[in-house]
Amino acid sequence: MNKIHLKDKDFVPYISYEQLEKAIDAVAERINHDFKDFDGIPIVLCVLNGSILFTGELMKRLDFPCEFSSVRLSSYEGTLSTGITRKVLGLTSSIKGRTVIVVEDIVDTGKTITDLYALLRDAGAANVKICTMLLKPEVYKKDLKLDYVAMEIENRFIVGFGLDYDQLGRNYKDIYILDTDKKPAKTMKHYLIFGPPGAGKGTQAARLVERYGLRHVSTGDLLRREIAAGTPLGLQAKSLIDNGELVPDSVVEGMIASELDTHPDVKGFIFDGFPRTTAQAEHLDAMLAARGQKIDTVLSLAIPDETVFERIRHRAEVENRVDDTKPEIIRNRIDTYHAKTEPVISYYKGRGVYKEVDGLGTIDEVFDKLCALM
Ligand code: AMP
Repeated sequence: MNKIHLKDKDFVPYISYEQLEKAIDAVAERINHDFKDFDGIPIVLCVLNGSILFTGELMKRLDFPCEFSSVRLSSYEGTLSTGITRKVLGLTSSIKGRTVIVVEDIVDTGKTITDLYALLRDAGAANVKICTMLLKPEVYKKDLKLDYVAMEIENRFIVGFGLDYDQLGRNYKDIYILDTDKKPAKTMKHYLIFGPPGAGKGTQAARLVERYGLRHVSTGDLLRREIAAGTPLGLQAKSLIDNGELVPDSVVEGMIASELDTHPDVKGFIFDGFPRTTAQAEHLDAMLAARGQKIDTVLSLAIPDETVFERIRHRAEVENRVDDTKPEIIRNRIDTYHAKTEPVISYYKGRGVYKEVDGLGTIDEVFDKLCALM
């Protein structure tokens, strides 16, 4: 096993094919044992594209009658109000009333597998078992039981044996990790600008970006852009935003992932308006860790609720923001902040990266205080 080069990155050997074979032998033996007396024919369901090699290796070790089918999950579709934002594509056979053994290449935060599980149950599967080649226990945050795990790994970015970097690398029989010695991402520094609506996050972020050469990403701005462009996502997000509610985590997380992927060479990001829930914070950490990165500092602007209320009302006049015009909606935005977003503070305090400044004062005064923390 030697180093491999894919696009702009080098990868070094991590798990050999021989180790994978042993792990697959063991997991296949467990499945064979559980299905030895099974009265029926289960469907082995390959989740494309990543699990194609694993499914092939696993299938040839199964010694009971089974059918094969494959499936893909769309990235972000469906209705926001239900929270389900994905759908199953290309299911090659009916699963109504059947027992399905889902075969995944890797489970990290568990978002894909839990969505797929729910969608398969909705499609009428009688029983869904989950088999994954790899699990990242450090980042798996769901309660869904994973029936068969071939191997647990650290939270590293990997390629090979079906897994890709920008669609490349799936064909290697061994698994590789990013050669961290050479990774420019190590020098990136990411910041969060945090606080209630109207705290001045956008204003301060714009100035910090200028001074420190960071890239500003505001989920509020991204969502407003979708609304202005009249995209399906924008249309669905609009009513939630207009009522002062949050849009589902998966929507904003998808937007952030795409920002990270499309700007790999920046000095760092300043995230504004994200994360707004503890689940988003956990997901952001997982996305950054997968790229060998982390949040450096959370810059928090503290202001009392009454000031928030007045500032939002004033901004509504200046910026013509529908979500900021009605008092009851402003109240809802403040309540949503306390209920869902404030817990993010203890999350980051626990990680030792949380820093707070008094958000009252002139723009210059607050900016100076933030600069002192950078
Ligand atoms: P902002 O401009 O940051 O105040 O965001 C405006 C609205 O967009 C919020 O009230 C939410 O409805 C939505 N939004 C922005 N960022 C997020 C996020 N991270 N999670 C959920 N909803 C968000």
